[in-house]
Amino acid sequence: MADKEIHFKIKRQDDPNAEAYWEEFKMPYSPGHNVVSALMYLREHPVNTEGRKVEPVVWDSNCMEEVCGACSMLINGTPRQACAALIDDLEQPVVLEPLTKFPLVRDLMVDRQKMFDALLKVKAWVPVDGSWDIHRHAPLISSGEQSIRYIFSRCMTCGCCMEACPQYHKDSTFIGPAPLGQVSLHNSHPTGKYFNEERLHAIMGDGGITDCGNAQNCIQVCPKDIPLTDAIARLGRQTTAQWLRDLFVK
Ligand code: SF4
Repeated sequence: MADKEIHFKIKRQDDPNAEAYWEEFKMPYSPGHNVVSALMYLREHPVNTEGRKVEPVVWDSNCMEEVCGACSMLINGTPRQACAALIDDLEQPVVLEPLTKFPLVRDLMVDRQKMFDALLKVKAWVPVDGSWDIHRHAPLISSGEQSIRYIFSRCMTCGCCMEACPQYHKDSTFIGPAPLGQVSLHNSHPTGKYFNEERLHAIMGDGGITDCGNAQNCIQVCPKDIPLTDAIARLGRQTTAQWLRDLFVK
């Protein structure tokens, strides 16, 4: 057991315009490592399998408990959270690559800003226009509704569903599954629904819900098991109703 090792094959890129290359690393095995803790070890010991000291691998992470969504990467080809990927459960060499649907910053770190821009576009928030005690006056929500909405509220904007979606790529304007899930969540909220029409209009045009190809890859990879395809089906009905209202009511 003493000479057991953890073997990594990591796709690296020094900056967004540089050529990508593969680099391999080995580190001593110890039980309980996840990919982030192993990368931390490699940061302290940045020596590749050729014995050459190299620049430490760059990645993004924060909470270490699958809540912040920052450490998304391709691990053995699957988009997932590095903090939740236990080395003992992974085939070796453990192959790490950056997500491909977001602009690369360096090595395994990408810029997920366009997801946050999409959340702004669809007004993914509940409007509050005062500082009074909204809890006392807010409409009651049944526990059944709460449990459905709670699942959608767990989205951590990790981008795994966007990575898996064939319709979401650098040449498409598709808004992607995660923001659509948030439209569904906020449209179902008693206060959030004041923006329903604006949210629906935001996903009715170019790059909106009709760009979904129904591949259903998003639900396969979501670490929070969010039923994104249910949300997309619901929004399909809501946007059709909105289209009819626009046609006849105005
Ligand atoms: Fe990540 Fe799931 Fe949210 Fe997509 S829906 S961003 S996979 S948590």
